[in-house]
Amino acid sequence: MKPTHIEHIGIAVKSLDEAIPFYEKMLGTKCYAIEEVTDQKVKTAFLRIGQTKIELLESTDPEGPIGKHIEKRGEGIHHIAYAVKGIESHLKEAEESGIRLIDLQPRRGAEGLDIAFLHPKSTFGVLTEFCEDKS
Ligand code: ZN
Repeated sequence: MKPTHIEHIGIAVKSLDEAIPFYEKMLGTKCYAIEEVTDQKVKTAFLRIGQTKIELLESTDPEGPIGKHIEKRGEGIHHIAYAVKGIESHLKEAEESGIRLIDLQPRRGAEGLDIAFLHPKSTFGVLTEFCEDKS
């Protein structure tokens, strides 16, 4: 496994309307994309800082993963996503080294990336995402 960089950091927020202006001001940049990922029951907003992005995540359903996360732990960092080249081989290698996978196969995430999550129980408490831009 050899990720190339941190692609994004996912932050769970209660309200994009409140969080976006704050992050735009703090990072001195405009949110460049808002996208709903229906199968994750989430609305995402992206800001760019260097080669990394901040992904703000607002739940569209209290029963969705972000809704549950906020109910249990409140707002805050939800996951860290590493850019990889060859997501399938990264997943295979992770699995072979005993890391518990949430996604055995990559699926389509925001911004058209192929993404897959590793279980936080295997990654010292951090929900970890591999993602690959195959476009
Ligand atoms: Zn993500």
